[in-house]
Amino acid sequence: IGRHPTGKPEPKTIPGVKRILAIGSGKGGVGKSTVSSNLAVAMARQGWKVGLLDADIYGPSQPRMMGLDRPPMSPDGKQIIPLESHGVKFMSIGVLLPKDEAVIWRGPMLMGALQQLLNDVRWGSLDVLIVDMPPGTGDIQLTLCTYFDVTGAIVVSTPQDVAMLDAQKALVAFSKLGTEVIGLIENMSGYICPECGHEAHIFGQGGVRAEAAKLGMPLLAEIPISLDVRLSGDEGRPIALGDDAIAVIYGKLAARLIE
Ligand code: ADP
Repeated sequence: IGRHPTGKPEPKTIPGVKRILAIGSGKGGVGKSTVSSNLAVAMARQGWKVGLLDADIYGPSQPRMMGLDRPPMSPDGKQIIPLESHGVKFMSIGVLLPKDEAVIWRGPMLMGALQQLLNDVRWGSLDVLIVDMPPGTGDIQLTLCTYFDVTGAIVVSTPQDVAMLDAQKALVAFSKLGTEVIGLIENMSGYICPECGHEAHIFGQGGVRAEAAKLGMPLLAEIPISLDVRLSGDEGRPIALGDDAIAVIYGKLAARLIE
C-alpha cells in the first residue's frame, strides 16, 4: 500500500514546505556548511521564506555559523518550534545534543533523528528548506532522498582533484537515489590578496568547471577563499549578510536558484 511499483516507499512532502534542497559534498571540510548557511541567508534577503536544517549528524556546525546554541522550545513535548536567526528558520541536531558529545549512531537511529527533524519541527510555510547533509554518502542521504520528496541537490567541491573524485561519489549516489543534481559549487577557488589584488589558485584552477562541463551540469558559483568568510562563520554572522564581493556572489547564486 502506498508504494511505487518499484517497491520504493512513496516519498513524502512536508506540509507547507514547497521545496527541499539538499547540499552535499564528497568529503568534509570543503565548506558545505558555510555554503548552506550563506545561501540560506542570501535567499532570505531576497524575500524567500527559508528554513535551514543541519543534518550533519557527525559534526553539526550550523549552530555556531548561524550564531545560535540554545535549545529549541517544545511547548507540547511533541512538536519542536524551530529557532530563527538572520531571517532563517533553523534547526540542527547540534542543539538537541549535549555539547562535545561524539555521536556514534547506527543507521536506524540516524533515520529516526532525521525523520524527527523533518516531521516534528513546526517548519510552517517555507519556499525552501535547505538541508546541510553530512559529507559522503550514507544513511542520512539514503533516508532523505528515499523517504522525502527532495526537489534537487547541490554538490560542493574544492578544486583539488581528490576532492572532486570524492564529489563524484556524492553525485552518483544522488542520481542512484533519483534526486536531480541542480549543479556544482566550487568553494575555496582562488585566493585574492587583499593587499595587491593578485589571485592565487592555491588548490589548482578550473577542476570543478571542467568536471561540471564533462557531466553536462551547471557550475553554479565559484567562491574564493577569504579570511572574512571564515571569521564571519565563526562569529555566527554569515558573510552573505553583508555587501562585499563574496556576498554579491551569494546574492547572484540565490537569485539564480529562486528564478
Ligand atoms: P564542511 O561543512 O564541508 O565540513 P565547513 O563549512 O565547516 O565545511 O568549512 C570548513 C572550514 O573552512 C570552516 O572553518 C569555514 O569557515 C572555512 N571555509 C569554508 N569556506 C571558506 C572560504 N570560501 N574561505 C575561507 N574559509 C572557508
